[in-house]
Amino acid sequence: KLFNELQDLRGNIRVYCRVRPFLPGQAANKSVVEHISDKGELVVGNPAKTGKDGRKMFRFNRVYGPQATQAEVYLDTQPLVQSVLDGYNVCIFAYGQTGSGKTYTMLGPNGAQEEEWGVNYRALKDLFNMSKNRSDSISYEVGVQMVEIYNEQVRDLLTNDAQKKLGILTTPSSNGIAVPDATMLPVASTSDVMDLMHIGLSNRTVSATAMNERSSRSHSVLSVHVRGKDLQAGTTLFGNLHLVDLAGSERVDRSEVTGDRLKEAQHINKSLSALGDVIFALAQKSTHVPYRNSKLTQLLQSSLGGQAKTLMFIQLNPDATSYSESLSTLKFAERVT
Ligand code: ADP
Ligand code: MG
Repeated sequence: KLFNELQDLRGNIRVYCRVRPFLPGQAANKSVVEHISDKGELVVGNPAKTGKDGRKMFRFNRVYGPQATQAEVYLDTQPLVQSVLDGYNVCIFAYGQTGSGKTYTMLGPNGAQEEEWGVNYRALKDLFNMSKNRSDSISYEVGVQMVEIYNEQVRDLLTNDAQKKLGILTTPSSNGIAVPDATMLPVASTSDVMDLMHIGLSNRTVSATAMNERSSRSHSVLSVHVRGKDLQAGTTLFGNLHLVDLAGSERVDRSEVTGDRLKEAQHINKSLSALGDVIFALAQKSTHVPYRNSKLTQLLQSSLGGQAKTLMFIQLNPDATSYSESLSTLKFAERVT
């Protein structure tokens, strides 16, 4: 209880760290994650240095090891999701280098069965179940948008006209819809959600083949907009849940890339640091929050800060070859905890 209150004082920002397992076929080397405690501590070891010098400790709100199941991870996320039905705005991000498990956490593995579902499906299933339970007093409607931000341009993933570029409202709207021209589909069940995710993901995949793994170089944002009408009082509440699978955070060697690839890398770099700066400013209770520096932070402005709640999943690949990327991921998170 006290722990929760302290968190609230700190601006409703939570950071959970998840270490993915070694994959079948990937040589199971020694993990760079040497220790995880149930108090949220994690120790990483530099594979090139032995002894104390090579070790670093980080502390988060939660740490999940390679054995953690999707259900366990979601259990700690559930209260945030549920608060959306009370009219809160919530952003959940997955941050990490490509291959660290961002999509696994948010969506699940390809063709996941219910047991392997990620946060997205579980969250929507919860919202539907809970709104049914309350339907005697509040009548809820749920609408979903799915967009991608690529090279600082917002694209609708729920339309065939995927080239259409979308604008973001410059003043955050009170009901949290920042991209009014993106297709909004009403959903009432997880199978509706499955259908539209299928459309959205295939629109993403089309460009992935055309543009060589574009999905890891764009941010995808699934926005769930909830409107609840209080049947007795006649009042209406709005809650928004943004589920964000961020572009890969890996540093690109400037000496090795040019042209489009360099431009992409610069856009990703810029938007991830803008996100870090916003969360840092919120965590510090700073009076100036620099939302305007990227499309991502502009889009999420009304759901970052104020009464809104933020959860960042920090994803780690345990392999020694990923050590320096893992360390920079941990340092990104350390700034906001
Ligand atoms: P990212 O989206 O960060 O690029 P992915 O989510 O695609 O990474 O994960 C890379 C690979 O690792 C995928 O094959 C995925 O299924 C697998 N993977 C990631 N996290 C886990 C996990 N916790 N348990 C089992 N497999 C995982
Ligand atoms: Mg991914």
